[in-house]
Amino acid sequence: TIATIEPFDPSTSTVNPLAKVVGADLVVPLLGGGELRYVNLDYAASAPALVEVLDFVNTIIPFYASVHRGAGYTSQVSTSLYENARTTVRRFVGGRSDDSVIFTRNTTDSLNLLAGCVPATGEVLYLDLEHHANLLPWQRLPHRSLTAAVTLAETLERVRAELSTGGISLLAVTGASNVTGELLPISELADLAHAHGARIVVDAAQLAPHRRIDISRDGVDYLAFSGHKLYAPFGAGVLVGRPDWLDAGTPYLPGGGAVRRVKVDSVSWATGPARHEGGSPNLVGAAALAHAAEVLASLDVDAWHTHEQALRSALVSGLATLPGVTVHQLFQDSADPIGVVNFSVSGYDAGLVAAYLAAEHGVGLRDGRFCAHPLLQRLGLPSGSLRASVGLGSRLADVDRLLGGLRSLLSDGL
Ligand code: PLP
Repeated sequence: TIATIEPFDPSTSTVNPLAKVVGADLVVPLLGGGELRYVNLDYAASAPALVEVLDFVNTIIPFYASVHRGAGYTSQVSTSLYENARTTVRRFVGGRSDDSVIFTRNTTDSLNLLAGCVPATGEVLYLDLEHHANLLPWQRLPHRSLTAAVTLAETLERVRAELSTGGISLLAVTGASNVTGELLPISELADLAHAHGARIVVDAAQLAPHRRIDISRDGVDYLAFSGHKLYAPFGAGVLVGRPDWLDAGTPYLPGGGAVRRVKVDSVSWATGPARHEGGSPNLVGAAALAHAAEVLASLDVDAWHTHEQALRSALVSGLATLPGVTVHQLFQDSADPIGVVNFSVSGYDAGLVAAYLAAEHGVGLRDGRFCAHPLLQRLGLPSGSLRASVGLGSRLADVDRLLGGLRSLLSDGL
Protein backbone atom coordinates (compact mmCIF):
# COMPACT_ATOMS: atom_id res chain seq x y z
CA THR A 1 0.00 0.00 0.00
CA ILE A 2 2.91 2.35 0.66
CA ALA A 3 3.84 2.36 -3.02
CA THR A 4 0.49 3.84 -3.85
CA ILE A 5 0.48 6.60 -1.19
CA GLU A 6 -0.93 9.60 -2.98
CA PRO A 7 0.61 13.05 -2.68
CA PHE A 8 -1.30 15.21 -0.23
CA ASP A 9 -4.31 17.10 -1.58
CA PRO A 10 -5.58 19.92 0.70
CA SER A 11 -9.04 19.79 -0.86
CA THR A 12 -9.64 16.28 0.42
CA SER A 13 -7.71 16.38 3.71
CA THR A 14 -9.50 16.12 7.02
CA VAL A 15 -9.11 18.77 9.70
CA ASN A 16 -6.88 17.71 12.57
CA PRO A 17 -7.02 18.87 16.13
CA LEU A 18 -3.82 20.76 16.98
CA ALA A 19 -1.01 18.32 16.37
CA LYS A 20 1.11 16.81 19.13
CA VAL A 21 4.88 16.99 19.31
CA VAL A 22 7.42 14.43 20.45
CA GLY A 23 9.16 15.15 23.77
CA ALA A 24 6.42 17.39 25.17
CA ASP A 25 6.78 15.77 28.60
CA LEU A 26 10.54 15.43 28.69
CA VAL A 27 11.98 15.78 32.21
CA VAL A 28 15.41 17.39 32.64
CA PRO A 29 17.82 17.64 35.59
CA LEU A 30 18.37 20.99 37.32
CA LEU A 31 21.75 22.28 38.45
CA GLY A 32 20.93 22.37 42.16
CA GLY A 33 19.38 18.87 42.11
CA GLY A 34 15.87 17.77 41.29
CA GLU A 35 14.22 17.77 37.90
CA LEU A 36 11.45 19.49 36.01
CA ARG A 37 9.42 19.05 32.83
CA TYR A 38 11.46 20.68 30.11
CA VAL A 39 10.03 23.93 28.78
CA ASN A 40 11.03 24.35 25.15
CA LEU A 41 10.79 28.00 24.17
CA ASP A 42 13.13 27.61 21.22
CA TYR A 43 10.87 26.44 18.41
CA ALA A 44 12.27 29.12 16.09
CA ALA A 45 15.69 27.43 16.16
CA SER A 46 14.44 23.87 15.62
CA ALA A 47 10.96 22.58 16.33
CA PRO A 48 10.41 19.12 17.85
CA ALA A 49 9.05 16.41 15.55
CA LEU A 50 5.32 16.04 15.30
CA VAL A 51 4.18 12.69 16.66
CA GLU A 52 2.50 12.09 13.30
CA VAL A 53 5.76 12.77 11.49
CA LEU A 54 7.71 10.36 13.66
CA ASP A 55 5.03 7.71 13.18
CA PHE A 56 5.20 8.26 9.43
CA VAL A 57 8.98 7.94 9.44
CA ASN A 58 8.69 4.66 11.35
CA THR A 59 6.23 3.44 8.72
CA ILE A 60 8.49 4.18 5.77
CA ILE A 61 11.83 3.13 7.28
CA PRO A 62 11.36 -0.59 6.44
CA PHE A 63 10.99 0.44 2.78
CA TYR A 64 14.07 2.65 2.79
CA ALA A 65 16.21 2.05 -0.30
CA SER A 66 17.94 3.92 -3.10
CA VAL A 67 15.89 6.60 -4.84
CA HIS A 68 15.91 6.65 -8.67
CA ARG A 69 18.62 4.00 -8.66
CA GLY A 70 17.04 0.59 -8.33
CA ALA A 71 14.45 -1.70 -9.86
CA GLY A 72 13.64 -3.57 -6.64
CA TYR A 73 10.35 -3.13 -4.81
CA THR A 74 11.76 -1.00 -1.99
CA SER A 75 13.56 1.24 -4.49
CA GLN A 76 10.28 1.74 -6.30
CA VAL A 77 8.57 2.60 -3.03
CA SER A 78 11.36 4.99 -2.03
CA THR A 79 11.31 6.71 -5.41
CA SER A 80 7.57 7.09 -5.25
CA LEU A 81 7.71 8.52 -1.70
CA TYR A 82 10.39 10.99 -2.76
CA GLU A 83 8.56 12.20 -5.87
CA ASN A 84 5.25 12.37 -4.02
CA ALA A 85 6.97 14.54 -1.42
CA ARG A 86 7.68 17.11 -4.15
CA THR A 87 4.04 17.21 -5.17
CA THR A 88 2.93 17.54 -1.55
CA VAL A 89 5.33 20.43 -0.93
CA ARG A 90 4.26 22.18 -4.14
CA ARG A 91 0.63 22.01 -3.01
CA PHE A 92 1.50 23.06 0.55
CA VAL A 93 2.97 26.36 -0.68
CA GLY A 94 0.40 26.95 -3.45
CA GLY A 95 3.04 26.39 -6.13
CA ARG A 96 2.45 26.73 -9.87
CA SER A 97 2.24 23.46 -11.80
CA ASP A 98 5.60 24.02 -13.48
CA ASP A 99 7.48 25.17 -10.35
CA SER A 100 10.59 23.18 -9.51
CA VAL A 101 10.67 21.64 -6.05
CA ILE A 102 14.28 20.93 -5.14
CA PHE A 103 15.15 19.15 -1.91
CA THR A 104 18.16 20.53 -0.06
CA ARG A 105 19.63 20.31 3.43
CA ASN A 106 18.00 23.44 4.84
CA THR A 107 17.04 27.05 4.04
CA THR A 108 20.68 28.11 3.88
CA ASP A 109 21.36 25.45 1.27
CA SER A 110 18.26 26.44 -0.74
CA LEU A 111 19.22 30.11 -0.87
CA ASN A 112 22.82 29.33 -1.81
CA LEU A 113 21.52 27.07 -4.57
CA LEU A 114 19.36 29.87 -5.93
CA ALA A 115 22.28 32.29 -5.70
CA GLY A 116 24.13 30.05 -8.16
CA CYS A 117 21.27 30.40 -10.64
CA VAL A 118 20.60 34.16 -10.62
CA PRO A 119 21.44 35.50 -14.10
CA ALA A 120 24.52 37.68 -14.19
CA THR A 121 22.54 40.54 -15.78
CA GLY A 122 21.27 42.25 -12.63
CA GLU A 123 21.80 42.86 -8.92
CA VAL A 124 20.18 41.32 -5.84
CA LEU A 125 18.46 43.67 -3.41
CA TYR A 126 17.94 42.82 0.28
CA LEU A 127 17.13 44.56 3.55
CA ASP A 128 19.36 44.83 6.60
CA LEU A 129 17.00 42.80 8.77
CA GLU A 130 17.74 39.44 7.19
CA HIS A 131 19.08 36.25 8.73
CA HIS A 132 22.62 35.67 7.45
CA ALA A 133 21.26 32.81 5.31
CA ASN A 134 19.36 35.39 3.27
CA LEU A 135 22.21 37.88 3.17
CA LEU A 136 25.56 36.13 2.76
CA PRO A 137 24.67 34.22 -0.44
CA TRP A 138 23.76 37.56 -2.08
CA GLN A 139 26.95 39.28 -0.88
CA ARG A 140 28.79 37.00 -3.30
CA LEU A 141 26.79 38.38 -6.22
CA PRO A 142 26.40 41.94 -7.49
CA HIS A 143 24.06 43.32 -4.83
CA ARG A 144 22.60 46.32 -3.03
CA SER A 145 21.47 46.37 0.60
CA LEU A 146 18.84 48.68 1.97
CA THR A 147 18.20 49.90 5.51
CA ALA A 148 14.66 49.01 6.56
CA ALA A 149 12.71 51.97 7.96
CA VAL A 150 11.00 51.74 11.34
CA THR A 151 7.63 51.40 9.66
CA LEU A 152 6.63 48.81 7.09
CA ALA A 153 4.95 51.52 5.01
CA GLU A 154 8.17 53.53 4.75
CA THR A 155 10.19 50.35 4.14
CA LEU A 156 7.98 49.53 1.15
CA GLU A 157 8.57 53.07 -0.11
CA ARG A 158 12.34 52.62 0.17
CA VAL A 159 12.18 49.31 -1.71
CA ARG A 160 10.04 50.91 -4.40
CA ALA A 161 12.50 53.81 -4.77
CA GLU A 162 15.50 51.48 -5.03
CA LEU A 163 13.82 49.17 -7.53
CA SER A 164 12.84 52.13 -9.68
CA THR A 165 16.49 53.03 -10.23
CA GLY A 166 16.67 49.84 -12.34
CA GLY A 167 19.14 46.99 -12.57
CA ILE A 168 17.69 44.75 -9.85
CA SER A 169 16.95 41.18 -10.94
CA LEU A 170 16.02 39.69 -7.57
CA LEU A 171 14.54 41.02 -4.33
CA ALA A 172 15.40 38.74 -1.39
CA VAL A 173 13.23 39.12 1.70
CA THR A 174 12.21 37.15 4.74
CA GLY A 175 8.57 36.24 5.28
CA ALA A 176 8.90 36.58 9.07
CA SER A 177 11.83 37.84 11.14
CA ASN A 178 13.62 35.19 13.18
CA VAL A 179 14.59 37.94 15.63
CA THR A 180 11.31 39.78 16.29
CA GLY A 181 8.67 37.55 14.68
CA GLU A 182 7.43 40.47 12.58
CA LEU A 183 5.90 39.69 9.17
CA LEU A 184 6.96 41.35 5.94
CA PRO A 185 4.24 42.17 3.37
CA ILE A 186 5.42 39.66 0.77
CA SER A 187 2.55 40.11 -1.64
CA GLU A 188 3.11 43.90 -1.85
CA LEU A 189 6.86 43.36 -2.16
CA ALA A 190 6.26 40.84 -4.96
CA ASP A 191 4.08 43.37 -6.80
CA LEU A 192 6.80 46.01 -6.45
CA ALA A 193 9.50 43.64 -7.68
CA HIS A 194 7.47 42.55 -10.70
CA ALA A 195 6.50 46.13 -11.57
CA HIS A 196 10.22 46.85 -11.93
CA GLY A 197 11.17 43.72 -13.86
CA ALA A 198 12.63 41.87 -10.86
CA ARG A 199 11.74 38.58 -9.18
CA ILE A 200 11.30 37.89 -5.48
CA VAL A 201 12.62 35.12 -3.25
CA VAL A 202 11.06 34.69 0.19
CA ASP A 203 12.99 33.12 3.05
CA ALA A 204 10.12 31.24 4.68
CA ALA A 205 12.18 29.47 7.36
CA GLN A 206 10.07 31.19 10.04
CA LEU A 207 6.92 31.87 8.05
CA ALA A 208 6.16 28.32 6.93
CA PRO A 209 5.83 26.85 10.46
CA HIS A 210 3.35 29.58 11.47
CA ARG A 211 1.25 30.72 8.50
CA ARG A 212 -0.44 29.35 5.42
CA ILE A 213 1.62 30.19 2.33
CA ASP A 214 0.33 30.62 -1.22
CA ILE A 215 3.08 31.62 -3.60
CA SER A 216 0.77 31.69 -6.64
CA ARG A 217 -1.63 34.08 -4.92
CA ASP A 218 1.18 36.27 -3.52
CA GLY A 219 3.28 36.27 -6.68
CA VAL A 220 6.35 34.81 -4.97
CA ASP A 221 8.85 33.48 -7.51
CA TYR A 222 11.03 31.44 -5.12
CA LEU A 223 10.49 30.16 -1.61
CA ALA A 224 12.90 28.41 0.75
CA PHE A 225 12.33 26.72 4.10
CA SER A 226 13.70 24.02 6.42
CA GLY A 227 12.15 20.77 7.64
CA HIS A 228 13.70 21.08 11.11
CA LYS A 229 11.73 24.26 11.83
CA LEU A 230 8.59 22.67 10.36
CA TYR A 231 8.40 19.85 12.93
CA ALA A 232 10.38 17.43 10.73
CA PRO A 233 13.93 17.36 12.10
CA PHE A 234 15.32 14.87 9.60
CA GLY A 235 17.82 16.99 7.71
CA ALA A 236 15.92 18.30 4.70
CA GLY A 237 15.05 21.71 3.30
CA VAL A 238 13.45 22.81 0.08
CA LEU A 239 13.55 25.42 -2.65
CA VAL A 240 10.40 25.92 -4.71
CA GLY A 241 10.22 28.21 -7.68
CA ARG A 242 10.25 29.12 -11.33
CA PRO A 243 12.16 26.55 -13.38
CA ASP A 244 13.85 28.75 -16.02
CA TRP A 245 16.69 30.19 -13.88
CA LEU A 246 17.06 26.89 -12.04
CA ASP A 247 17.34 24.87 -15.24
CA ALA A 248 19.91 27.26 -16.69
CA GLY A 249 21.94 27.71 -13.51
CA THR A 250 25.15 26.00 -12.50
CA PRO A 251 24.39 22.53 -11.09
CA TYR A 252 24.65 22.90 -7.32
CA LEU A 253 26.05 19.46 -6.49
CA PRO A 254 27.74 17.96 -9.55
CA GLY A 255 27.60 14.19 -9.27
CA GLY A 256 25.54 11.09 -9.90
CA GLY A 257 21.93 11.75 -10.80
CA ALA A 258 22.47 15.37 -11.89
CA VAL A 259 23.35 14.45 -15.46
CA ARG A 260 21.94 13.32 -18.78
CA ARG A 261 25.15 11.93 -20.18
CA VAL A 262 28.79 11.96 -19.11
CA LYS A 263 31.90 11.49 -21.22
CA VAL A 264 35.27 11.28 -19.61
CA ASP A 265 35.97 14.99 -20.20
CA SER A 266 32.52 16.50 -20.63
CA VAL A 267 28.97 16.36 -19.34
CA SER A 268 25.44 17.18 -20.42
CA TRP A 269 23.49 18.23 -17.32
CA ALA A 270 19.93 17.25 -16.46
CA THR A 271 17.22 19.86 -16.10
CA GLY A 272 14.56 19.80 -13.39
CA PRO A 273 15.29 19.18 -9.70
CA ALA A 274 17.79 16.42 -10.52
CA ARG A 275 20.19 19.05 -11.90
CA HIS A 276 20.81 20.34 -8.38
CA GLU A 277 20.32 17.17 -6.35
CA GLY A 278 23.53 15.29 -7.14
CA GLY A 279 24.21 12.19 -5.05
CA SER A 280 21.76 9.99 -3.18
CA PRO A 281 18.99 12.15 -1.78
CA ASN A 282 17.75 12.36 1.80
CA LEU A 283 14.57 10.37 1.29
CA VAL A 284 13.57 10.27 4.96
CA GLY A 285 14.17 14.00 5.38
CA ALA A 286 12.20 14.95 2.28
CA ALA A 287 9.31 12.58 3.02
CA ALA A 288 9.17 13.75 6.66
CA LEU A 289 9.20 17.40 5.62
CA ALA A 290 6.35 16.74 3.20
CA HIS A 291 4.40 14.81 5.81
CA ALA A 292 4.81 17.65 8.32
CA ALA A 293 3.55 20.02 5.63
CA GLU A 294 0.56 17.76 5.18
CA VAL A 295 -0.22 17.80 8.90
CA LEU A 296 0.16 21.59 9.13
CA ALA A 297 -2.05 22.07 6.09
CA SER A 298 -4.76 20.03 7.74
CA LEU A 299 -4.81 22.10 10.95
CA ASP A 300 -7.78 24.26 11.67
CA VAL A 301 -6.32 27.69 10.89
CA ASP A 302 -8.35 29.57 13.46
CA ALA A 303 -7.48 27.16 16.28
CA TRP A 304 -3.82 27.23 15.25
CA HIS A 305 -3.71 31.01 15.16
CA THR A 306 -5.63 31.45 18.41
CA HIS A 307 -3.29 29.05 20.21
CA GLU A 308 -0.21 30.87 19.02
CA GLN A 309 -1.55 34.36 19.63
CA ALA A 310 -2.66 33.45 23.16
CA LEU A 311 0.89 32.31 23.94
CA ARG A 312 2.48 35.34 22.33
CA SER A 313 0.22 37.79 24.15
CA ALA A 314 0.86 36.03 27.47
CA LEU A 315 4.59 36.31 26.83
CA VAL A 316 4.52 39.98 25.82
CA SER A 317 2.15 41.11 28.56
CA GLY A 318 3.96 39.04 31.20
CA LEU A 319 7.36 40.41 30.22
CA ALA A 320 5.94 43.96 30.33
CA THR A 321 5.19 43.55 34.06
CA LEU A 322 8.82 42.76 34.91
CA PRO A 323 11.02 45.72 35.87
CA GLY A 324 14.02 46.16 33.57
CA VAL A 325 12.72 43.77 30.92
CA THR A 326 12.29 45.25 27.43
CA VAL A 327 10.64 43.61 24.42
CA HIS A 328 12.27 44.51 21.09
CA GLN A 329 10.72 44.96 17.68
CA LEU A 330 11.76 46.84 14.58
CA PHE A 331 8.55 48.15 13.03
CA GLN A 332 6.11 50.52 14.71
CA ASP A 333 3.27 49.38 12.44
CA SER A 334 3.75 45.61 12.41
CA ALA A 335 0.63 43.53 12.98
CA ASP A 336 0.09 39.95 14.08
CA PRO A 337 3.68 38.71 14.47
CA ILE A 338 4.44 34.99 14.73
CA GLY A 339 5.17 33.38 18.11
CA VAL A 340 8.68 34.78 18.47
CA VAL A 341 9.41 37.36 21.19
CA ASN A 342 12.72 39.14 21.61
CA PHE A 343 13.68 40.73 24.90
CA SER A 344 16.50 41.74 27.19
CA VAL A 345 16.94 42.10 30.94
CA SER A 346 18.64 45.33 31.94
CA GLY A 347 21.95 44.78 33.73
CA TYR A 348 22.18 41.11 32.81
CA ASP A 349 24.15 39.46 30.03
CA ALA A 350 21.74 37.57 27.76
CA GLY A 351 23.92 34.45 27.74
CA LEU A 352 23.97 34.30 31.54
CA VAL A 353 20.21 34.74 31.75
CA ALA A 354 19.69 31.92 29.24
CA ALA A 355 22.11 29.65 31.13
CA TYR A 356 20.40 30.48 34.45
CA LEU A 357 16.91 29.75 33.07
CA ALA A 358 18.12 26.40 31.69
CA ALA A 359 20.04 25.33 34.81
CA GLU A 360 17.62 26.52 37.51
CA HIS A 361 14.21 26.48 35.82
CA GLY A 362 14.41 23.91 33.04
CA VAL A 363 13.64 26.50 30.37
CA GLY A 364 15.34 26.40 26.95
CA LEU A 365 15.46 29.61 24.95
CA ARG A 366 17.91 31.25 22.61
CA ASP A 367 20.33 34.06 23.36
CA GLY A 368 22.83 35.86 21.16
CA ARG A 369 22.58 37.66 17.87
CA PHE A 370 20.40 35.11 16.07
CA CYS A 371 22.52 35.02 12.88
CA ALA A 372 21.26 38.55 12.18
CA HIS A 373 24.14 40.79 13.25
CA PRO A 374 23.09 43.85 11.23
CA LEU A 375 19.58 43.79 12.74
CA LEU A 376 20.85 43.39 16.30
CA GLN A 377 23.13 46.36 15.69
CA ARG A 378 20.11 48.32 14.43
CA LEU A 379 18.09 47.40 17.51
CA GLY A 380 20.88 48.71 19.75
CA LEU A 381 21.73 45.19 20.94
CA PRO A 382 25.27 44.64 19.67
CA SER A 383 26.02 42.05 22.31
CA GLY A 384 22.78 40.15 21.88
CA SER A 385 19.43 39.56 23.52
CA LEU A 386 17.05 36.72 24.38
CA ARG A 387 14.40 35.06 22.23
CA ALA A 388 11.45 33.01 23.39
CA SER A 389 9.59 31.20 20.62
CA VAL A 390 6.55 28.95 20.74
CA GLY A 391 4.80 26.45 18.51
CA LEU A 392 2.30 23.62 18.37
CA GLY A 393 3.45 21.85 21.55
CA SER A 394 3.70 25.01 23.66
CA ARG A 395 1.38 25.66 26.59
CA LEU A 396 0.56 28.64 28.79
CA ALA A 397 2.36 26.83 31.64
CA ASP A 398 5.57 27.20 29.58
CA VAL A 399 5.17 30.97 29.52
CA ASP A 400 4.47 30.95 33.27
CA ARG A 401 7.68 29.00 33.92
CA LEU A 402 9.72 31.53 31.99
CA LEU A 403 8.11 34.48 33.75
CA GLY A 404 8.59 32.79 37.15
CA GLY A 405 12.26 32.20 36.37
CA LEU A 406 12.75 35.81 35.40
CA ARG A 407 11.00 36.98 38.57
CA SER A 408 13.38 34.86 40.65
CA LEU A 409 16.33 36.31 38.76
CA LEU A 410 15.15 39.86 39.36
CA SER A 411 14.52 39.29 43.07
CA ASP A 412 17.47 37.04 43.98
CA GLY A 413 20.06 37.82 41.26
CA LEU A 414 22.19 35.21 39.56
N1 PLP B 1 16.22 32.22 7.65
C1 PLP B 1 15.62 32.42 8.81
C2 PLP B 1 14.61 33.53 8.92
C3 PLP B 1 15.92 31.62 9.91
O1 PLP B 1 15.33 31.82 11.07
C4 PLP B 1 16.87 30.59 9.75
C5 PLP B 1 17.28 29.75 10.89
O2 PLP B 1 17.35 30.17 12.01
C6 PLP B 1 17.45 30.41 8.51
C7 PLP B 1 17.10 31.24 7.48
C8 PLP B 1 18.45 29.34 8.27
O3 PLP B 1 17.83 28.11 8.40
P1 PLP B 1 18.73 26.78 8.36
O4 PLP B 1 19.67 26.88 9.52
O5 PLP B 1 17.72 25.69 8.53
O6 PLP B 1 19.41 26.78 7.06
